[in-house]
Amino acid sequence: MIEIIFLGVGAAIPMRNSTNTAYLICIGNERILIDCGPAILQQLDAVGVSPAEITHIFFTHRHGDHALGYPMLMLWYEISADAQLQVPTLIASAQTFDALDTLMGVSYGPMDGVAESAPRIIVPQERIGQTQIHPNIMLTTVPMAHSDFAPSLGLRIETRHQFGNHIIAFTGDTGPNDHIALLARDAELLVHEAAYSATLNPEYAAGIYGHSTAQIAGRNAKAAGAKRLALVHIDAMYEGQERVLIEEAQREFDGHVFAPVPGLSLTLDDK
Ligand SMILES: [Zn+2]
Ligand SMILES: [Zn+2]
Repeated sequence: MIEIIFLGVGAAIPMRNSTNTAYLICIGNERILIDCGPAILQQLDAVGVSPAEITHIFFTHRHGDHALGYPMLMLWYEISADAQLQVPTLIASAQTFDALDTLMGVSYGPMDGVAESAPRIIVPQERIGQTQIHPNIMLTTVPMAHSDFAPSLGLRIETRHQFGNHIIAFTGDTGPNDHIALLARDAELLVHEAAYSATLNPEYAAGIYGHSTAQIAGRNAKAAGAKRLALVHIDAMYEGQERVLIEEAQREFDGHVFAPVPGLSLTLDDK
């Protein structure tokens, strides 16, 4: 059994009462945090999770809505951590790590403490990478098509044996690209960004600003053979119209489509 907690689901400037996209994946004793926007400490607190429980943090890319909380989270470890605490392993591309180090440097300067001791796994930005974080948990990182300034990676998580056979996939921020079907091949759950709506803004149908529409998300879910599709990172201008985006994706994809609310916990049971 694995659990996915949607800590936040919003775009860079989120809807009222919402925050930026971040997810916590719970697999056995492993707690994988995906992205670290400016509200990360409050997002974790809202679902009753302490940063002490996090074992890994994966950063999709350097944009502020995905990375600005990094210095604050590291500050938490610096101030709150006891000597026994294992600081989480950080996983990102070299480009993203450069930005994270700059953020830390301008926020609190060198701390020479627990934050600096966090183990790092540097994954490739230009090609597919694989990282085994546990004998039965494989992470696959896949280049997406988002921004030259902030190159982005999607994440595929596969589990087996004692955790059950599960595949879940997260696009992070991305425009349409051929890698998504591979990223989400046979996924039980595809969490796909749908910043825009091709129904409400037909001029954005091909994707725009390195982002996708709900229609594109639906097509990718179908091409990948995914079972469920979560639409996230929906632009704030669509507040109250999430149903339109869900129906837009449903016209392309027969599986279950939903727009998670912040704090939603989804459990995938073993088959
Ligand atoms: Zn974003
Ligand atoms: Zn972005």
